[in-house]
Amino acid sequence: MGREVTIVGQGLAGTCLAWRLWDRGRDFCLVHRGDRPSTSFISAGLLTPVTGRNLNPSWRLEEFLREARAFYEKVEMVLGEQFFHEVPIVRLFADADERSRFEGKRGKIDQWTGEALEEGNCPYHAPHGGVIWKGGGRLDTRRFLEASRGYFREAGLLEEQEVDLQGPLPDTEVTVLCAGAAGLGQGPFGFLPERRAKGELLTVRIMGFPEERIVSRNGWLIPLGGGLFRAGSTYRWDDLSETVTKDGRAQIEELISSFTSLPYEVLEHVAGVRPIVRQSRPVIGRHPEIENLVIFNGLGSKGVLYAPGVAERLVSHLCEGTEIEDDLNVRALAG
Ligand SMILES: Cc1cc2nc3c(=O)[nH]c(=O)nc-3n(C[C@H](O)[C@H](O)[C@H](O)COP(=O)(O)OP(=O)(O)OC[C@H]3O[C@@H](n4cnc5c(N)ncnc54)[C@H](O)[C@@H]3O)c2cc1C
Repeated sequence: MGREVTIVGQGLAGTCLAWRLWDRGRDFCLVHRGDRPSTSFISAGLLTPVTGRNLNPSWRLEEFLREARAFYEKVEMVLGEQFFHEVPIVRLFADADERSRFEGKRGKIDQWTGEALEEGNCPYHAPHGGVIWKGGGRLDTRRFLEASRGYFREAGLLEEQEVDLQGPLPDTEVTVLCAGAAGLGQGPFGFLPERRAKGELLTVRIMGFPEERIVSRNGWLIPLGGGLFRAGSTYRWDDLSETVTKDGRAQIEELISSFTSLPYEVLEHVAGVRPIVRQSRPVIGRHPEIENLVIFNGLGSKGVLYAPGVAERLVSHLCEGTEIEDDLNVRALAG
């Protein structure tokens, strides 16, 4: 028998799981398919406490946010580099209805709510004003994944290869599939309900755009420094390829124009597929028939928020035998 655990996939799920195992001194191998960037790598890395048109706080927000922040801080200490940047989020209201929805919900989301903004104190097109969300920010997923990969490679804990998801399991006590969208709709966990969604985003240079906060309304603009912004994103369910499209770009360019009429230059255009099982509620646990085959998937649009805390629950199950709660357990979804 080889190592204790094989982790298949080095996106946010696989990487957070690897750090949790590393923290406990366990023997594992992180298998990375190095031929193309993961969805986590191209993602915007945004962590927004209150999301969507309904302005609801994310599921179990307080708990998972606390765990995520502590986790990123710890990895930052080990690697000597900052990955998570706390940045206020300016949430602009799309229309008068959205504004009154916010007023109605204010009591429930007070903890995440900062200053209210009127049109006059927004340096861009904002006829219905907005509000500042507190507690969120941006994870530099590219640097987090690259620096983690370098660390695990040095430690002899990383291998580059593609694992046949239909084939025999690697020679380890436990295999954890963290394969993202590629692990849904087919393979041993093909029985899971899923609604994968393709997304595209642009990196643009907007000279003179006077904003250092994240701005959001039907999409977002995330400042990266030096006049660079990440802008997006799109949702499509009928095309699950990782190729960029003209339509996707046009949609994001329209979004940029809804914030500012300043000229901009497009520097990068990328696409990926979100692994969605039930909105952004992750799924972990053992295959209903194959005890040593485990899944960590379903991070949806909220990998930055949920991956660290959910990885901890999975490792605590694998190493200490802690029960997986029904809310997360893949077995609760098996027919
Ligand atoms: C355009 C876009 C923007 C997004 N923005 C945000 C955001 O702002 N904030 C946020 O929290 N989330 C965002 N997301 C969602 C986020 O990216 C996902 O929640 C997250 O990436 C899922 O991580 P994962 O590790 O499950 O999957 P992935 O990142 O897809 O990782 C899976 C890994 O498994 C590997 N793999 C697959 N099959 C095999 C195999 N057979 N053998 C070996 N390796 C294999 C893949 O190569 C990949 O490295 C965004 C997604 C998109 C598409």
